[in-house]
Amino acid sequence: MANRPFIVGNWKMNGTRAMLAEARAIDRGAARHAGVRVAVAPPFTLIQALAENAETMAIGGQDCHAAASGAYTGDVSAAMLADSGASFTILGHSERRAMHGETDEIVRAKAEAALAAGLEVIVCVGETEAQRDAGQAEAVVCGQLDCSLPVGEGVAGRVTVAYEPVWAIGTGRVPSVEDIGAIHRAIRARLVTIYGEDGAGVSILYGGSVNAANAAELLAADEVGGALVGGASLQADSFLAIVLAA
Ligand code: PGA
Repeated sequence: MANRPFIVGNWKMNGTRAMLAEARAIDRGAARHAGVRVAVAPPFTLIQALAENAETMAIGGQDCHAAASGAYTGDVSAAMLADSGASFTILGHSERRAMHGETDEIVRAKAEAALAAGLEVIVCVGETEAQRDAGQAEAVVCGQLDCSLPVGEGVAGRVTVAYEPVWAIGTGRVPSVEDIGAIHRAIRARLVTIYGEDGAGVSILYGGSVNAANAAELLAADEVGGALVGGASLQADSFLAIVLAA
């Protein structure tokens, strides 16, 4: 894989304008680590402010609606994200799948809308603890890839996959390096099935309780092309330590 490591901060529903200084510190750090691709996905309300100030890091959304416009109170379209300065969006995060009833089909429709608006997409997949205990982790993840990834000519180059076991998100628990490698190899094989040889170039991020202390070990696992970082992305120091580990 010739891709630069990709480290993405997912701020979730955290951050007001008081966080702009933290974002500037992350951006300055990103400029010092040109070998790593750094991105932050703040809440919608901060996208424009972060994008206007960012010189090096990419700014993205955490979701978008599948429709281009219309009577969808409270929702934000992919074109609106792009217009605010976003260059990508996260889609299908397990919190959205669980709390907003997002199915694989909805995630795929959103991904198609995002690509049509010129955005790159980071599509999240991952098993619950019960599914892992039942030995279904790989089957669940591959099923999510089959049904939620956008397909078509030239699409693979604008897609990143984030493997985030639901039970590892925000819990401080992480899979073993061997387990991460096994799932990432399975994801790679499925990407090649879905996209043909282009699937070999798709970055696969690991996400779930990545922090400054465990990043180097997790990022060294097989087929891990970067990290999707929640809690540890809210402070420039801890986030940049992860960037450095990449
Ligand atoms: P976490 O979240 O790093 O706080 O576990 C990761 C994510 O949900 O993307």
